[in-house]
Amino acid sequence: MDAKEFREFGKAAIDFVADYLENIRDNEVLPSVEPGYLLDLLPNQMPEQGESWKTVLSDIDRVIKPGITHWQSPQMHAYYPTSTSYPSIVGEMLASGFGIIGFSWICSPACTELEVVVMDWLAKFLKLPEHFLHASEGPGGGVIQGSASEAVLVAVLAAREQAVVSYRESHPELSESEVRGRLVAYSSDQSNSCIEKAGVLAAMPIRLLPAGEDLVLRGETLKKAIEEDVASGRIPVICIATLGTTGTCAYDDIETLSTVCEEFKVWLHVDAAYAGGAFALEECSDLRKGLDRVDSLNFNLHKFMLVNFDCSAMWLRDANKVVDSFNVDRIYLKHKHEGQSQIPDFRHWQIPLGRRFRALKVWITFRTLGAEGLRNHVRKHIELAKQFEELVTKDSRFELVAPRALGLVCFRPKGDNEITAQLLHRLMERKKIYMVKAEHAGRQFLRFVVCGMDSKPSDIEFAWTEIESQLTALLTEQSLAARKTGNVADLTQHFKIHLNDHEKSQ
Ligand code: PLP
Repeated sequence: MDAKEFREFGKAAIDFVADYLENIRDNEVLPSVEPGYLLDLLPNQMPEQGESWKTVLSDIDRVIKPGITHWQSPQMHAYYPTSTSYPSIVGEMLASGFGIIGFSWICSPACTELEVVVMDWLAKFLKLPEHFLHASEGPGGGVIQGSASEAVLVAVLAAREQAVVSYRESHPELSESEVRGRLVAYSSDQSNSCIEKAGVLAAMPIRLLPAGEDLVLRGETLKKAIEEDVASGRIPVICIATLGTTGTCAYDDIETLSTVCEEFKVWLHVDAAYAGGAFALEECSDLRKGLDRVDSLNFNLHKFMLVNFDCSAMWLRDANKVVDSFNVDRIYLKHKHEGQSQIPDFRHWQIPLGRRFRALKVWITFRTLGAEGLRNHVRKHIELAKQFEELVTKDSRFELVAPRALGLVCFRPKGDNEITAQLLHRLMERKKIYMVKAEHAGRQFLRFVVCGMDSKPSDIEFAWTEIESQLTALLTEQSLAARKTGNVADLTQHFKIHLNDHEKSQ
């Protein structure tokens, strides 16, 4: 392909993306394909001769698009959002165009320096403590990782290496393997699966401590666990707290956790993968309490900042602790500007050697939307979730499971778990909206998350009409079936509750 053809292909692809995103509401959010659909449609070998880009683009419409789950649809309400925006898409394209790998400053000075700039912009925008800025006097700074999972793993590995070094200094009688065998880490039983996975990858057990009734992990629970472990000769290394848990967006108590971590010299990492975007809002300033005492923190720009996946910000209070742990050098990686203050070699801050030019899409997004545009986006998601919460509370057949938090509403039809499961099954079969279930203390519930780059109040009304009308249809079917068999007395408790409510409202 020459530059002329690339121009044509590229422009046609941009038109394709713009049409796709502009008309995203025309698609059912879930695809209607069965497992293996694409394997059956595509040849099992690559073509011997190259094909025209027009054929390829038309196949994207014909075979790829039908197998897409439309994450950017405003009818997507599962998981947490994965954002994108037109400026971010252009940024991604330009980064591919440069085709660089910026593992050290000399490999593309702009890649390293732009990352320093945007990470400081973002830290200021989120009102993070000064010591996380590259521009601060100290050894702190921010870096872009691919995902929250990577950021957590980096923190866990760095904390582990620091703990081994310092414990061996104070206990020279112990061998390295004896020390490594005693290490232990902590998180809450509400934390994301990536925390447990980081423990597996780091070969260090992570104790998932019970969060309270309100799903919050507090210092006293951590302290009890650490004291037990210390008494039995274990070495506490790191606690990974969460601001905005995946299930219900609960916020661990960072202030009491940091008091305990300081007392026992335990690294405190905060996973704010989703909720971190709200640090920017004055009305959410409570969320930032205690952040001045944590060692590291991560926040996914690809969740709340209109930057497309993958883009996960991580800040370290003392980046030297990571660099010292991960610094494995070779002569071919060295360059004459190494070690200059304010010019990090980010390869020492991450797991891979190579690194993408992610800062470009961040910079382009921040410049074109501005701080105000980003704050408005977060506020819009919160307002839309409030609208949904109000609809839930007005319908006596439903109940909230936890207080609404940011763009997440956790709710369920009243009664036992079966009706929640059946309602979700029905909704998934219809494919008009997409939600997932979660469970706490034996109670299943539905998570409704505001997603999409351009959701509107009418999208929330659409989703609510779908949910409540499907509950009505489900209850009607159940009641007719029970009457037909004369088994009304056998109706389970949950259907009785709903039938009563439903019949009263007729
Ligand atoms: N932490 C929390 C609180 C999350 O909700 C998620 C995913 O939604 C993750 C971590 C994992 O994020 P990633 O896919 O970026 O690793």
